[in-house]
Amino acid sequence: MGIEEKAPAGFMLGSVEKIVGLARKSSMWPVTMGLACCAIEMMATGTPRFDISRFGMEVFRASPRHADLMIVSGRVSQKMAPIVRNVYDQMPEPKWVISMGVCASSGGMFNNYAIVQGVDHIVPVDIYLPGCPPRPEMLLNAILALHEQVRNSPLGVNRVEAARKAEEAALAATPTHRMKGLLA
Ligand code: SF4
Repeated sequence: MGIEEKAPAGFMLGSVEKIVGLARKSSMWPVTMGLACCAIEMMATGTPRFDISRFGMEVFRASPRHADLMIVSGRVSQKMAPIVRNVYDQMPEPKWVISMGVCASSGGMFNNYAIVQGVDHIVPVDIYLPGCPPRPEMLLNAILALHEQVRNSPLGVNRVEAARKAEEAALAATPTHRMKGLLA
């Protein structure tokens, strides 16, 4: 009798999913991208005091093609928005986004025409991290929460489609008119 007949239904797929999830969360590399003051805290996270390398993530990649995590650290100006999207598009799937700080998540105190009122108008966000600025420990906590999310994600989910739906929902909730063209 083969292992599939002995094992309960879905056992093999469940095991493969667990192994793939573990590999994905253990080999996550962030892309180098700092937008404003939150980026200083993000950089501090890489220093020996906070030691992001404990999680195998000390390599902030200079090329988006080598990265699978985007940490949007700081406010996103209208001028910078297409570039943020361009970097995101160049990252290979599967990829994840952390919105770091109140400015990236909602525009924060910059409720004006120059700042995108939430980076989820441009890219789909997996984790929203509050604070102004969030401390490195908070960023590490968000990264660990994302690791858990990635480790438990089932295979076969079409992330591109799910991400696009999340983007559309965010844009419908709080329109930023100049961003609409990016979703077309
Ligand atoms: S949340 Fe605070 S620290 Fe971060 S970009 Fe905005 S103003 Fe700067």
